[in-house]
Amino acid sequence: MNQTQQSPKIVVVGAGWAGLGATYQLVQQGYDVTLLEAGGHPGGLVAGWKTAQGRSVEAGIHGFWYPYRNIFALVKQLGLNPFTDWTRSSQYSPAGLEVESPIFQQEPRLPSPLGTFLYTRFKRLFLKKYEVDAVE
Ligand SMILES: Cc1cc2nc3c(=O)[nH]c(=O)nc-3n(C[C@H](O)[C@H](O)[C@H](O)COP(=O)(O)OP(=O)(O)OC[C@H]3O[C@@H](n4cnc5c(N)ncnc54)[C@H](O)[C@@H]3O)c2cc1C
Repeated sequence: MNQTQQSPKIVVVGAGWAGLGATYQLVQQGYDVTLLEAGGHPGGLVAGWKTAQGRSVEAGIHGFWYPYRNIFALVKQLGLNPFTDWTRSSQYSPAGLEVESPIFQQEPRLPSPLGTFLYTRFKRLFLKKYEVDAVE
């Protein structure tokens, strides 16, 4: 961009992962960016909390896999280390527990998506005997 030109103004709507990432890249390129967020906090589906029993609950995004090169490059560039160790995870709908995933790294390695299909417990498909943690 020509230094004598005024920075073009850009409005990004939504401060989820996509909006924050886009805003960061646009600001890096010299644009004058306004980021609008309707909710009470940034992050969108990147949100979570702990239950009274200390169990982690995630609203959406919770797993970051090796192919996420842009995300790993970004957190390194920002000097952040937001990731916890691998954990098991469960997904619930209003009907209750739907899916439970193991720590895939602890299972024998299989080509994707075979490992995902065999190790993930889909409660409503009844493919495997299912053991459920107590719901809090
Ligand atoms: C249960 C679940 C589990 C998931 N697990 C994973 C996972 O493990 N790994 C993974 O990579 N992905 C996962 N995803 C997907 C991931 O969460 C989403 O792809 C990602 O968070 C989407 O980011 P986003 O910025 O596009 O949208 P969002 O995170 O939805 O953000 C959109 C933002 O825009 C705001 N907004 C909307 N309308 C307006 C408006 N008119 N004005 C101002 N602000 C507005 C909202 O308030 C929100 O903050 C999961 C999703 C779900 C639902």
